[in-house]
Amino acid sequence: MKTESDSALRKIPSVDRILKNPQLSPLFKDYPHSIVTESIREVLNQLRKELLNGNSKDINELEIVEKVKLSVVIKGKYSLRPVINATGVVIHTNLGRAILPEEAIRQVIEVATSYSNLEYDLEKGQRGKRYTHIIEAIRKVVNVESAVVVNNNAAAVFICLNTLAKGKEVVVSRGELVEIGGSFRIPDVMAQSGAVLKEVGTTNKTKLSDYKNAINDNTALLLKVHRSNFRIIGFTEEVSVKELSIIAKEKGIPVMVDLGSGCLIDLKKYGFYEEPTVEEVLSEGADIVTFSGDKLLGAAQAGFILGKEELIERISKNPLMRALRVDKMTLAAVEATLRLYLDQKNALQKIPTLRMITEELSSIRKRALKIRAALKKEGVVSLIKEDFSMPGGGSLPEHGVKTYVVAIKTKIAPQDFATKLRKVEPPVIARIKDDFVLFDPRTVQEKEIPLLAKAVKQVL
Ligand SMILES: *Cc1c(COP(=O)(O)O)cnc(C)c1O
Repeated sequence: MKTESDSALRKIPSVDRILKNPQLSPLFKDYPHSIVTESIREVLNQLRKELLNGNSKDINELEIVEKVKLSVVIKGKYSLRPVINATGVVIHTNLGRAILPEEAIRQVIEVATSYSNLEYDLEKGQRGKRYTHIIEAIRKVVNVESAVVVNNNAAAVFICLNTLAKGKEVVVSRGELVEIGGSFRIPDVMAQSGAVLKEVGTTNKTKLSDYKNAINDNTALLLKVHRSNFRIIGFTEEVSVKELSIIAKEKGIPVMVDLGSGCLIDLKKYGFYEEPTVEEVLSEGADIVTFSGDKLLGAAQAGFILGKEELIERISKNPLMRALRVDKMTLAAVEATLRLYLDQKNALQKIPTLRMITEELSSIRKRALKIRAALKKEGVVSLIKEDFSMPGGGSLPEHGVKTYVVAIKTKIAPQDFATKLRKVEPPVIARIKDDFVLFDPRTVQEKEIPLLAKAVKQVL
């Protein structure tokens, strides 16, 4: 027995021999040498174990090579990688928020594969400013004096408060002391920035007189925060930016609005009644407006600060600006996305976030049918149902937006099915409702349909 397995062990090929197998050579193009050798070692060790356990199997080199290939692919997976978002939540923070427009991707590649004039004034041949690129781009789309961008909107709110109100009071309605998620709470951000929160009004009602009575010699700012992810309904009252800016002007205090989503196009006809555009808020008299780059705007993660030249100048000179500054790839993506807004129709078509949230029901239904057909090809039965998608990112119309979903009834519990779907490659993130696993075509891209169908088949 012993001698038998000994001679079998001696037949195990060496790591070097497998490394030279021509079938493995294409792997070296995509994976580091170390991953391939590690995989070979593991496969050979496994084989040795099996032989020692008395499994006198034939040693088949082809089989070894196939196992190595599989192991390399599994080991070589990037940690951060694409998933299929079948949830219908368009602005999904956990799934990476905005898909960039093609134009933005191309521009990122252009800028990232060369040196650039990031901080170089080509006319004067000397040091220039990082943010000139963005100021010009934004001023072509929004009627505003000046602008600057930082890492994200949380950073934007923070640096505005720190610059304009450190050691001074900021008046905010109680109904707007919100938590946005991911531990971004207005009172906490305020405390960290060094500004002193002055709450006014009640949870459901805040009146103009509340603001008036709160203003004193130490008041630096009146702040309005967009209630991104909840609504107060019923017996309510709030003060508009317009009304606030009138008393603010009298007292010489700026008004700041944290808009959250930052909508540049009027989306009311698509059901986004609570989304004022950036331009609207500015024209109502806001002195500073902040919003995200990767929510409704549909570009890269960034925090926009728009407003009065003098205030933007002060914010830009804050030493914290250096800590919150954005990378050239972000600037490239943002500039290219902003350019698409020069033509609204273009923006609605070419910016994936806008295209998905405004997509017509008939077009969604077509994609639902394609998903069903792809599933059928894999032998999977599904049905099409009416449902609602949530735009997400704190810009949700009360009851979502009508959609069609592809639904499958699974033998195992839908939760378990969904768990398994997350473990295939690429992972599929689905929704569960009434014992069905749902795929919402709103967020599923055309090219992902065959992959989705294969994933479902694999799990079944
Ligand atoms: C989302 C949001 C933020 C945070 O923006 P990030 O870009 O995620 O940092 C801040 N304020 C409001 C009102 C928001 O909706």
